[in-house]
Amino acid sequence: MKYKRILLKLSGEALMGDKQFGLDPQMLERYAKEIKKVAEQGIQVAVVIGGGNIFRGGDALANGLDRVQGDYMGMLATIINGMALQNALEKAGLYTRLMSGIKVEQVCEPFITRRAVRHLEKGRVVIFGAGIGSPYFTTDSAASLRAIEIKADVVLKGTRVDGVYTADPEKDANAQRFSNISFEEVYSKGLNVMDMTAFTLCKENGLPIIVFDMNTPGNLLKIVKGEEVGTLITMN
Ligand code: UDP
Repeated sequence: MKYKRILLKLSGEALMGDKQFGLDPQMLERYAKEIKKVAEQGIQVAVVIGGGNIFRGGDALANGLDRVQGDYMGMLATIINGMALQNALEKAGLYTRLMSGIKVEQVCEPFITRRAVRHLEKGRVVIFGAGIGSPYFTTDSAASLRAIEIKADVVLKGTRVDGVYTADPEKDANAQRFSNISFEEVYSKGLNVMDMTAFTLCKENGLPIIVFDMNTPGNLLKIVKGEEVGTLITMN
């Protein structure tokens, strides 16, 4: 196996499936199956989940809400998603822990780096909810930060697109996919991988990122085995 400890970032939006809002149980089941395939191989799996299917802080202003208040609402949305994913993973027969960046003691543990690492070493899939626990950040930033804290080998950004392209492949038919690209090239070409805070955190800590299509069954397992899937972003 190429990677021993991975941080998988899943967007909240992906959990909607074909719905306009909320959770699609089929998507949860599908993702749980994909995660199980790698966990069964002894790979340590941590997951950061977004909240965009329920609430995004950025939408707060349009709804007449205060931004900080809205961001906390977004963080709570990620906990709802984390609980749903935890349930799906346990139904698939995996052991799990949900850890949160804000205190929600009745439903999950607070995030403590050493404890998270211990859970991973014991073979539990660890889900990180509530982002980093501070407003004005995204769950992409949480993915980068938590990955660095737990010393993950790589951040795997699961999306519905199979990598990083020269332009948006859903809008431009001539868009070309990169199989490898450096952090510097992503900056210089103005490509969209993650928000800049999240991206820079990875760059400054030499943490590679792979952007890949999470909706193709088997992709996650292929990546941990070292097969070329999606786009790998590295220092050079
Ligand atoms: N959020 C936050 N701090 C964090 C992580 C998330 O304030 O550390 C809030 C923010 O409002 C964000 C929302 O939670 O819009 C949901 O997360 P995100 O938009 O990253 O989810 P995704 O787009 O991946 O579904």
